[in-house]
Amino acid sequence: MATGMVAGMVVVGAGQGGLQVAESLRAEGYDGPITLIGEEPFVPYHRPPLSKAMLAGTMEEAQLAIRGADVFERQRIDLLTGVRVVAIDRPARRVRLEDGRSLDYRGLALATGSRLRPLPVAGGDQDGVLGLRSLDDARRIRAALDGAARVVVIGGGYIGLEVAAAARKRGLEVSVLEAADRLLARSATPFLAAFYADLHRSQGVVVELGAKLAGLDGQGGRVTGVRTADGRSRPADLVVVGIGVVPNTALAEGCGLPCEHGVLVDDCARTGDPAIVAVGDCTARRVGDAGALLRLESVQNAVEQGKSAAAALLGRDRPFTAAPWFWSDQYDVKLQIVGLSAGHDRMVLRGSPADRRFSAFYFREGALVAIDSVNRPADHMVGRKLLDRKAALTPEQAADEGFPLASLAR
Ligand SMILES: Cc1cc2nc3c(=O)[nH]c(=O)nc-3n(C[C@H](O)[C@H](O)[C@H](O)COP(=O)(O)OP(=O)(O)OC[C@H]3O[C@@H](n4cnc5c(N)ncnc54)[C@H](O)[C@@H]3O)c2cc1C
Repeated sequence: MATGMVAGMVVVGAGQGGLQVAESLRAEGYDGPITLIGEEPFVPYHRPPLSKAMLAGTMEEAQLAIRGADVFERQRIDLLTGVRVVAIDRPARRVRLEDGRSLDYRGLALATGSRLRPLPVAGGDQDGVLGLRSLDDARRIRAALDGAARVVVIGGGYIGLEVAAAARKRGLEVSVLEAADRLLARSATPFLAAFYADLHRSQGVVVELGAKLAGLDGQGGRVTGVRTADGRSRPADLVVVGIGVVPNTALAEGCGLPCEHGVLVDDCARTGDPAIVAVGDCTARRVGDAGALLRLESVQNAVEQGKSAAAALLGRDRPFTAAPWFWSDQYDVKLQIVGLSAGHDRMVLRGSPADRRFSAFYFREGALVAIDSVNRPADHMVGRKLLDRKAALTPEQAADEGFPLASLAR
């Protein structure tokens, strides 16, 4: 749309969050123009399968699209793919695209996601060193797995562990190197981290904790191994780097919007500018009773913030305050997490870790704050309700298999 035509809603970033904003604007009754702009050459797609079914080979690319192409036409969402937004002019309410075009906006949503954190040692630019954020990344890793024998995963977070599980399932030799003294150090409790270390070791993965990376070895531009500070080298023909992401805040910072660990938003996804909202992995906000400033990198967060953002652009308050939830699939173990376990002072178990079927309930000062469910989806579903309703579940009830959790969720 050329400058001067009627200004509509513009969404930057055609991923999980951006698509949600566009669809929720229609659901909220907004009838004007919506333009959804994405840098990648694809319709919005699901990222979670990229490290799971896509690598395992049990899902095809055609199944990744979040919506069929017809939906954009039907909902009158003008989807521009393969084009990057390079600047925001807030006084003029206009965005500039890299191809020189400009678009005026009445309301603007930033849903720019995040990018891979670069490896802080030499050798990361060689062939055979790959990270996983996008469909293109997943294509490369899938192709590399076909020809690989020895895989080293750098980083024991969820994505690294999911890749490790997929590579192991294909029968490859797999090592996971984690710098911290436990897996999942940023997001899981020590108990859950230990469960995952055992799980991977039982599947034949070499899990090295406290592994300080020194560099990547290579020959002729191809990676051959990973070296740690203790001087040891592990041979590898594929190195997958899973050391986290950096939020894409350049556009927001460039136009002076407050950013700290992400574009700062409130529970309604509002930024410091009433005409601009932001959602998903690029945002940070105060969450939970403790009010910690968090960047929640999850589908739920992108979707719920997307709904809030659409409402906010139309002048309505729809705060997102539900307990955060997340999942991970590794081998035959489905993990579902709800709530924030940081600062818990008590944990009780329901079910049996030895059977790989249990839920860990976390309490702080007697109040339930989080639940990790392993192969117990029913506990997770009822747990979401318990947390959102601040139900008065006691640790004794949680640990008692005979106690019906659902009785407190009604
Ligand atoms: C491998 C993998 C596995 C995951 N597994 C899980 C899981 O099991 N459970 C879970 O809850 N979450 C999971 N996640 C996280 C989840 O996918 C993200 O939280 C979610 O995709 C965030 O949505 P978003 O819209 O903020 O960002 P994205 O989906 O990343 O979309 C952002 C889009 O914006 C585009 N963009 C950026 N800058 C610009 C610009 N200037 N102009 C135009 N376009 C731009 C990007 O190219 C990108 O396409 C996983 C993520 C990955 C990568």
